[in-house]
Amino acid sequence: MKILSNAPEEPSGKVEKTEEEWQNLLDPEQFRILRQAGTEMPGGETYRQFMAQGDGAYHCAGCGARLFTSTEKFDSKCGWPSFYDPANAENVTTKEDHSGGRLRTEVNCAKCDGHLGHVFAGEGYDTPTDLRYCINGVGLSFVPA
Ligand SMILES: [Zn+2]
Repeated sequence: MKILSNAPEEPSGKVEKTEEEWQNLLDPEQFRILRQAGTEMPGGETYRQFMAQGDGAYHCAGCGARLFTSTEKFDSKCGWPSFYDPANAENVTTKEDHSGGRLRTEVNCAKCDGHLGHVFAGEGYDTPTDLRYCINGVGLSFVPA
């Protein structure tokens, strides 16, 4: 997960790029996750990094949109960065995902349509929403407060 010293500029509208432009902008792992709906290895370096981070905001690594903050972060012990609520709901969209033979709810960046992860409801976590936004850390940039 990239650490930024300043918040990236918020995109004013939809961010649309060609496949090639995204490939030039993102590193191969970011491209695989954000643009090809990939999933990072759980419990890896990115997760350890995430768990050690203090207060701050999480932005889309593709377009810079602010997505989550440390306020909504919680330890779900699932191995992926988890949040119970988006920081700025208009920057996060969800849609049905039927891949893998089961119905899940995919979480995307509203500005660039980048794949962030999935959201799960009603798992019994002791959070205000009982939602678990299970997010690939590779697709996020962290801006410490
Ligand atoms: Zn984005």
